[in-house]
Amino acid sequence: MVCLTFYGGVDEIGGSKILLEDQDTKIFLDFGMGFGSRGRFFEEFLTPRTANGIGDFLAMDLIPDIQGVYRTDLLTHYGRDPEKPEIDAVILSHAHADHANYVSFLHESIPIYCGETTKSILEAVEEQSRRGMENEVLNFKKRPLYRKDYRKPAVKRIFKTFRTGDRIKIGSLEIEPVHVDHSVPGAYGFIIHTSKGAVVYTGDLRLHGSNPGLTLDFMEKAKESKPIAMITEGTRINIEKDDSTEQTVYDTARKIVNGSSGLVIADFNFKDVDRFKTFYEIAKESDRTLVIGFKHACFLERYASDKKLDVPSSDGENIMLFKPKLATGTYDDADYSNYQFIKDRLDYPNILTADEIKRNQKKYLIVLNFWYFNNLIDLKPENGEYIHSLSEPFNEEMGISFERMKNWIDYFDLRFSQAHCSGHAPRYGLNKIIREINPGKLYPVHTEHPEIFRKYFDNVIIVKKNIRFDI
Ligand SMILES: [Zn+2]
Ligand SMILES: [Zn+2]
Repeated sequence: MVCLTFYGGVDEIGGSKILLEDQDTKIFLDFGMGFGSRGRFFEEFLTPRTANGIGDFLAMDLIPDIQGVYRTDLLTHYGRDPEKPEIDAVILSHAHADHANYVSFLHESIPIYCGETTKSILEAVEEQSRRGMENEVLNFKKRPLYRKDYRKPAVKRIFKTFRTGDRIKIGSLEIEPVHVDHSVPGAYGFIIHTSKGAVVYTGDLRLHGSNPGLTLDFMEKAKESKPIAMITEGTRINIEKDDSTEQTVYDTARKIVNGSSGLVIADFNFKDVDRFKTFYEIAKESDRTLVIGFKHACFLERYASDKKLDVPSSDGENIMLFKPKLATGTYDDADYSNYQFIKDRLDYPNILTADEIKRNQKKYLIVLNFWYFNNLIDLKPENGEYIHSLSEPFNEEMGISFERMKNWIDYFDLRFSQAHCSGHAPRYGLNKIIREINPGKLYPVHTEHPEIFRKYFDNVIIVKKNIRFDI
């Protein structure tokens, strides 16, 4: 018997946690944070209490209440007995938080399989993040009941990395990871050979990005496996077609930068290496220096060590690091003592402050994410441009943030432009991928509109959360 239980990613974009069982073997495909389900109850200052161990997360159904999955310390903290792990492995498709972050809660003896690039992105995130129960992916400090035990060393999780072409044997399963194109490097889909036949999982993917060949490879291999079932992402099944590509982002942004006589500010997600390359190219061509933050440097330095990604490191030509004002506001080294990722880089030769940018505005293209907009007060942009290279808001909460962002833009007289291409295939692309792979049954996840698939395919199973489906 082969069966699937969907503990997340149901009627929601992200939060994917899919349990696949074959005879005695149990694996999870992804174990992500559901931003939507978390956001229904929690926000910035109303958060799950860590003082309740794993309790608040279980009580609010942010993670499934099942046996043999969770960290002993968190269970004990919540007043439950420790449990023996019953899951053989967790396989991560890519490094986005909605697929990877809730690994934080898992028992340390459950091995985590992921691509090599995914592991290095998770390391970059860890380097720059404050430790919290929801982001202890690579290692964690046990949270015991007694304060005196807090000083014990961190527990390291077992990570096993794979590449395309590998075949991973776990119990009765053989898993074939195949690269796909998505808005983060090192994304994979999987062909899982079970005792009943192949089950395909797409992870997140697209055909309109910079590397469609990766997704085409996945489609071909998945098709060859003659799958009995396919779990597909459906983020943008409600959008028929979309002509934006990385090239259109490049064209739009380049025109703006070339036409500008002031400071250019770009906001994009640094996990998206294609987007970094787009803005880096534009900066070079327009004789501007690309200014990035210290958090961005954590990513870039790891990307640079992967030759396939072909990007410069944070000391690359035409790149400078923006030094934020902290503590005393005097840029004294001691101001950064609580920020290890900045402290470790203070001796870099290519560091600059807001003053230098303010004096020579047309020399720079700065990557400034919304959370750092208070730096606009020091940058004092004149005749500036702001390129929003992220998706447009698609829910109420994002809408409120977006309005606040627009207030800053207006206040500093910045010209607003949108230039983005999505990490997810629209309906046209999804249908093409599914038709090509031609699975026995189709399970849409990671979407708010699973019913739309029914218009195009007659083998669609609309999944329900926490319910087991026999394939
Ligand atoms: Zn996702
Ligand atoms: Zn993703």
